[in-house]
Amino acid sequence: MKVLKFGGSSLASAKSIKLIINIIKSEQQNLWVVVSASGKTTDNLVKLTQLALTKDENYKVGLKALEQHHISICKESLPIAAQTSVIALIKSSCNELEQLLDAVYWLEDLSPKTQDKIISFGELLSAQLLEKIASQEIESVQYKDSRELIGTDSQFTNAKVNFDRTNSTIENFQKNNKAKITILGGFISSNEADETTTLGRGGSDYSAAIYAAALNAEILEIWTDVSGLYAANPKLVKQAKPIANISYEEAMELSHFGAKVIYPPTIKPVLEKEIPIKIKNTFDPKAEGTTISNSSNGKRQTIKGISHIEGISLLTLEGLGMIGIHGISKRLFEVLANNHINIVMITQASSEHSICIAIAKESSKKAEQLINETFKNEIFEHLIQPISVENDLAILAVVGDQMKSHQGVSGTIFSALGSNNINIRAIAQGASEKNISCVIKNDNVKKALNCIHAAFFEAHIKELNVFIAGVGNVGSKLISQLQQQQVYLKEALNLNVKIVGVANSKQYYINENGLSNSDWQTNLSEQKVNNEASYYDAIATLNKQNSVFVDVTANEGVANSYADLLRKSISVVACNKIACSSDYNDYKELKYLAKKYKASFLYETNVGAGLPIIKTVQNLISSGDQITEIQAVLSGSLNFIFNEYTNGELFSTIVKQAQDEGYTEPDPRIDLSGKDVARKILILIREAGIPIEFEAIKNNPMLPKGSLEAASVDDFYSLITTEDEYFKQLLSDAKNQDSKLKYVASYKDGKASVGLQFIPKDHPFYNLEGKDNIVSFYTNRYQEQPLIIKGAGAGADVTASGLFADIIQIGTMN
Ligand code: ADP
Ligand code: ASP
Ligand code: MG
Repeated sequence: MKVLKFGGSSLASAKSIKLIINIIKSEQQNLWVVVSASGKTTDNLVKLTQLALTKDENYKVGLKALEQHHISICKESLPIAAQTSVIALIKSSCNELEQLLDAVYWLEDLSPKTQDKIISFGELLSAQLLEKIASQEIESVQYKDSRELIGTDSQFTNAKVNFDRTNSTIENFQKNNKAKITILGGFISSNEADETTTLGRGGSDYSAAIYAAALNAEILEIWTDVSGLYAANPKLVKQAKPIANISYEEAMELSHFGAKVIYPPTIKPVLEKEIPIKIKNTFDPKAEGTTISNSSNGKRQTIKGISHIEGISLLTLEGLGMIGIHGISKRLFEVLANNHINIVMITQASSEHSICIAIAKESSKKAEQLINETFKNEIFEHLIQPISVENDLAILAVVGDQMKSHQGVSGTIFSALGSNNINIRAIAQGASEKNISCVIKNDNVKKALNCIHAAFFEAHIKELNVFIAGVGNVGSKLISQLQQQQVYLKEALNLNVKIVGVANSKQYYINENGLSNSDWQTNLSEQKVNNEASYYDAIATLNKQNSVFVDVTANEGVANSYADLLRKSISVVACNKIACSSDYNDYKELKYLAKKYKASFLYETNVGAGLPIIKTVQNLISSGDQITEIQAVLSGSLNFIFNEYTNGELFSTIVKQAQDEGYTEPDPRIDLSGKDVARKILILIREAGIPIEFEAIKNNPMLPKGSLEAASVDDFYSLITTEDEYFKQLLSDAKNQDSKLKYVASYKDGKASVGLQFIPKDHPFYNLEGKDNIVSFYTNRYQEQPLIIKGAGAGADVTASGLFADIIQIGTMN
């Protein structure tokens, strides 16, 4: 025979109950079918009780809804003739429930005994309902009240099973049981006085295991809403897969540390009889599921899974008076045990001067009082400090039988956490070496699970989560380049680059699973208008591993956000030059933060768009070279303007044309004033290791102040026409000297300047075409002939590919 247990979601609707009936029908042998309450009924009953207790009459409304929920399942599942008696049963149960809730309401008192009585109705109703529905299609079905079979002590809400009594009652009952299918509610039981008790939340799994063991079942099948026990909670780790085979011990560790799919005490009764457990999905019965057994015929993986418990408090007892004194831990554990406070994890410093214990947050206040009371004398004498309590923590457990025979498991765990800036508060390794657990902040759980999962199970693929700010020309190009290369990056570089967020100055749109190729623009435009800060908040709250923020704006506010992002270990890639050309101290601070928080700060596109100029300088410097002189044409826009300005068109017309074609900054004065070029040479000099401020760069103005200080871009265009004559003269002077006009940035002997120059025919800059850039570096190693980098220095495509290269660099670093 077999024992099958169906969880709440399998009983949540008429449709899912139909799936259960199909599963039962497909079995040839006798079955015991154990069920949970329908859907969220137990949660709802707990809520109603709390409402009644707090004098909130809404419990009546909630109870009506609960009644209606069951009645509608009955109506959808049963023919009319069979409905009446079941509806009467549901109504009379709900009447009884109402009386109990009324009593709580009027007495303003709730004992654990009453609580158990109330929540037992969930399983009583679901099991009887299933029996009636199954009887319509299957022969020889009967309902049995679990309270008549499972005997416990009187620890209401978490009763302990009396196995001797329980096993013999079950055996006796089974001797005379003629039914092929026996349907029972899980979770509920009774004490010696025949009062209703329950086995703890999630306890239906346990009931099923108790039955399976008492009946010597061939197998225990737990049918739920996921396809097995996953390597990590699949709701939090999208990449997680079900584990095909796992040992009892491993499953026990994972469930003890929060893998809710199986209630921790479940395994013990079946383990003793070596009855295998199979976890299956009611909604996908063909899926293989997980087998929990003694035979390890699965892949001999070092790590089987990762689980976690949120809502943990860490209590630390510390003091020099603890060293060498016997019995401190004994007294500590005793006081907690006597008060039914469960310790989830313990660590003790080898110096013995501190003990750290992790417990559920609900018990932390009580535990704090009890411990301080227990050690009041030692505290009074300053031998021990009052217990310190930290809340909002979680325990993460990495589990695997084979851990002990493999080195480097903890190294992998801690470096995965460390490189994502996840701080570890305490670490414990079980004596059996099947488990390494650590305490981290609740907020970091999802990120931690994902990065540890990636380290062990997806080691060859690294996920980058990219957030883009600015979706104009360059931003949109970058998005399409990244999307187009997605498959290639996975195959060639083992990189899964996901664009998770996009923002313009008004809205942002985030999709954790990555933007869809075609819809992101519509999605973005449909978002409500936000203030700028909310995009950063959303990125921080999402707390994804390997997050990269890409600034494709020219906005100062966005540049000001880098420091905070880096502090959260979010890497920054910027084509915005403002941060790197701001105060030298700010620029240094950003580099320092990147290093401290193990994030990257990359800005190759600040100079020369996609050309590898900054990387070249960094490589020269790190290999010990020194830059002595820089000569450069660094403005693609100005080079374009002066290359076009040759054949009689007015200078002002050419400037307008350059803007229209997207080669200038949105405000062309940033280019024409030389400010943009000055920022670039400043950044290059800084990269060369020389501290310098923007003001130190001599700017030989090309335009008079009047037009540069015009009130608007339009005013600027009207004013600049008055300069057409001046530029005409300049151009003819240049031609007379066989030269061309080029806007040059230079640095030598500690001095830097930018300005328009006549470049003679034999100069390497003379033939610089279109919107190209060129940089010549003279260094200790390149003394005679400079190192020259030349190529397209402006344009959306090349700038986007420069940003792309920075993103990939982050992905391919370890
Ligand atoms: P049931 O009502 O069937 O007893 P539960 O909600 O108690 O179902 O357990 C199933 C849930 O357990 C899944 O939906 C999933 O969210 C959660 N879960 C947590 N950790 C894991 C894991 N490692 N593998 C599978 N499910 C897990
Ligand atoms: N219905 C109970 C609960 O929700 C028991 C169970 O589902 O296992 O806790
Ligand atoms: Mg469960």
